[in-house]
Amino acid sequence: MAASYVIDFTVGWSFGEPQASEVRQSGRMNRENLARLAGACCGGKFVVSSAGGAYDAQILDLNRRFWMEFVREYMVFAQLCLAGAVPLLAQTSPLLPSQKAPLSNRVVAYQIEAKYNPKNHSLDAQETLTWTNYTGLPQDRLPFHLYLNAFQPKSTFTREGYEAGNRDVQIGAKWEGKRFGEDVIKSLEVVGMGDLTDQLRFIHPDDNNADDKTVVEVQLPRRVAPNQSITFKIAFHDQFPEVVERTGYKRDFLLAGQWFPKIGVWWKNSWNCHQFHATTEFFADFGTYDVKVTLPSNFNVGATGVQTAETANSDGTKTLVFKAEDVHDFAWTAAPGTKIVEDTVQISSGTVKLRLLMQPGHMSSAPRYMDALKGTMKKFDDWIGPYPYSQVTVVDPPHGGLAAGGMEYPTFITAATTWWVFDGLKIPESVVEHEFGHQYWYGMVGTNEFEEAWLDEGINQYTECKVMDALYGRDVNVLNTPVATADERGIDRISYIGVAEYDPLTRWGWQFLTFRSYGGITYSKTALVLLTLEHIIGEAKVREAQHIYFERYRYKHPTGDDFLNTVNEVAGQNLGWYWNQSVRGTQVLDYRILSAETHRADWADKNAPKKEKKGKTEYVSSVVVHRKGDFVLPVTLEVKFDNGEVLRDHWDGQDRWHRYTWQKKAKLVSAEIDPEHSILLDRDRFNNSWLADSKSHTSGKIAGYWMLITQWFAQLLAWLA
Ligand SMILES: [Zn+2]
Repeated sequence: MAASYVIDFTVGWSFGEPQASEVRQSGRMNRENLARLAGACCGGKFVVSSAGGAYDAQILDLNRRFWMEFVREYMVFAQLCLAGAVPLLAQTSPLLPSQKAPLSNRVVAYQIEAKYNPKNHSLDAQETLTWTNYTGLPQDRLPFHLYLNAFQPKSTFTREGYEAGNRDVQIGAKWEGKRFGEDVIKSLEVVGMGDLTDQLRFIHPDDNNADDKTVVEVQLPRRVAPNQSITFKIAFHDQFPEVVERTGYKRDFLLAGQWFPKIGVWWKNSWNCHQFHATTEFFADFGTYDVKVTLPSNFNVGATGVQTAETANSDGTKTLVFKAEDVHDFAWTAAPGTKIVEDTVQISSGTVKLRLLMQPGHMSSAPRYMDALKGTMKKFDDWIGPYPYSQVTVVDPPHGGLAAGGMEYPTFITAATTWWVFDGLKIPESVVEHEFGHQYWYGMVGTNEFEEAWLDEGINQYTECKVMDALYGRDVNVLNTPVATADERGIDRISYIGVAEYDPLTRWGWQFLTFRSYGGITYSKTALVLLTLEHIIGEAKVREAQHIYFERYRYKHPTGDDFLNTVNEVAGQNLGWYWNQSVRGTQVLDYRILSAETHRADWADKNAPKKEKKGKTEYVSSVVVHRKGDFVLPVTLEVKFDNGEVLRDHWDGQDRWHRYTWQKKAKLVSAEIDPEHSILLDRDRFNNSWLADSKSHTSGKIAGYWMLITQWFAQLLAWLA
């Protein structure tokens, strides 16, 4: 998601600083998938037996690509014919033709049929979930998320939000009935095991809040053996809240996120199924989604994956069919009156369809969204790796519905704008960039957003800096006006420096001191850590590490150590000293010029000429650099003399301070630590430089004052944030 603090800052007066191998899971299709295919196709002409096991390796390995494409096309055609639906001429595969499905291990296969009631913003649905036990152990207790139950007065989410705040709930705010949401399992059956509704019980793995109903566990009557699948049939009812935290309604607009019972993830040898917290996001296994939504025929709908069919019903409703593959979530949106803007973008993996669902009053932002999306997709394609899905859907939330904005779901993102945003304020662009970036950092590289939010939000914030620099220009990519400018890294510094010493990146999401600390560290500090890493190993190596990390861990659930080890490997060095301080630690980096002075070398000589002579008189100059913070990093000092001489020296930064002394026929005029301004983690950059009090350097002094004023603004904003 996009952190709201970014938006808060950029609409105000803000300044930048003037210092200015593809490793796939086996492609083999398991028997259950084949059985499902057979079941779906048996009304037509194409039947695949699920009895044998040998052919999958042979046929699929020999002709997998052709075979899968054939089946996919045939499936769609057969389903449409059977349903009597109108075939859609558009792309009906959720993956691009260049992709060899399956891309992931497909632990889950969801089929959901939902009927939406827009009058009271509720829905009733039937979910068929096939889960395959890849845990390596027999399993008889399975946990499910029921995220919508977070929106209740006594939930952990509400309690934490009202105590520490979150992006939509102010600390101490009153509970309001319109915030109520629920996800109620009406019945749960396991095929072959019978009705297990009685075996459901709420669990609270993260706290002892007995009133929290966001995780439910089912006890099976017998174990599921490794590599066996079981199929759940779940009837559920949803009540959506008014938009809050990535889901809900606003008037007749709906964003249906986190709306169905979703099974937890077996990760690091145990079930990982956290309660929904005020600051945390999500974690789920990869798989397939076949979703049918029935709703009034005047609603325009967008969803994860692609739409494959549409049927008009006799009661004034319509049923839309969506299909998604190798994703770990499914969201959709519906609203009457939205304007649909479509385009395509050509990237290395093929032609991707781009679909915007715009509010009619926001049409001026449509080309801005589209340009930002295309530009971002090309940069990710160039730098990180291919986007494999055939479509991206962008939802533009309505007025008053910004709580639905700035959110990512697989192949489906929500943007943010208003009726008018001047060209120099790049909010529509940066939100689209950010949320599309999540297609990589969370969507494909499926990290645990509860426990390691820095791996999705933070890496994404770093790539946002890089992409926005490339598309809209360094220093001006957030705000670009004649009187003030700001860029992503400046905004990140502002949100980081106010909360620098409280929480490490590795803190679990709901355990941060405050929501402000969560945002300032998870998003902004990670970006600054990686920007500062460019100073240490070079920009090209940081990019290469991201590319390799993506290739190695897409469609998997890597950990923070996987990321750090990949960087170490690409850098060809163990950066543990840096990670221990910047990622695992809360050390604060602040190097400063403690003192600087220059005086005549002959000051004690009684016979020395009274008048100084330029180029003849000798001076002793000294600079003391001080490590004010507890973060140790090598730094560069640059000094300038009045004869034009410029010297640079590197200090390992280990000791508490270091004194430099020069004796020259020139006076020291300035000293600066980090002259390339590449140590973005430095908490206070105002104390990085010193200028001699000399009339001959008026322009330098003005620059110095300007630096002071803008630094002061940045500091002030950080305090106010
Ligand atoms: Zn985000």
